[in-house]
Amino acid sequence: EKKETQMELEHKNRILSEMSYIDGLTSISNHRTLIEHLKAEMVEASRMDKPLSIALFDIDDFKKINDSKGHVFGDQVLVDVATIIRNNTRDADLAGRYGGEEFMVIFSGADLAVASAIAERIRAAIESFGFAEETTVTVSGGVEQFSDQSLSDFIQAADKKLYRAKQNGKNRIDSSPF
Ligand code: GH3
Ligand code: MG
Ligand code: MG
Repeated sequence: EKKETQMELEHKNRILSEMSYIDGLTSISNHRTLIEHLKAEMVEASRMDKPLSIALFDIDDFKKINDSKGHVFGDQVLVDVATIIRNNTRDADLAGRYGGEEFMVIFSGADLAVASAIAERIRAAIESFGFAEETTVTVSGGVEQFSDQSLSDFIQAADKKLYRAKQNGKNRIDSSPF
């Protein structure tokens, strides 16, 4: 009766909040969670003068994978890539699905060298992972260290490096300054 209703409500609320923080396909953090966490980390980094870096990853030629193997297969690739990224990040870091086939990792307390090394480890782990049907999947990545820019400038800087990694042949991490 009344108590049960209360518990049911709490249960529903919990599921609702989980739905809006976690990506439904890959079960890692979604875009909203990434942005909220990043904003908080930027405040902390400025205040404590501690390093903060982000990496943006984008699956290479994902459209080809979808076109040749189908969307169900493509969805499974997204799930596997999300798992690999999670398994290769530290507990202090936050990994999430930024958009369709793009992922972000927020490296708390990590400078560019540390973040680049982990991003490279992620790239290598994806390249060597045994995806179904012996499909090779690769990602490109851009890594940027926070230097008191705005949120959008910070993300854009990582995205520009990601774009450069694509232009330079994909399956690589770009962390060089512009
Ligand atoms: P690039 O190497 O330059 O990144 O090429 P790309 O083919 O990966 O990039 P493009 O942006 O052309 O294609 C991205 C594709 O990702 C197109 C879109 O249909 C697919 N995609 C986005 N979200 C999902 C999803 O949730 N599931 C599946 N299966 N595909 C998705
Ligand atoms: Mg993309
Ligand atoms: Mg892509």
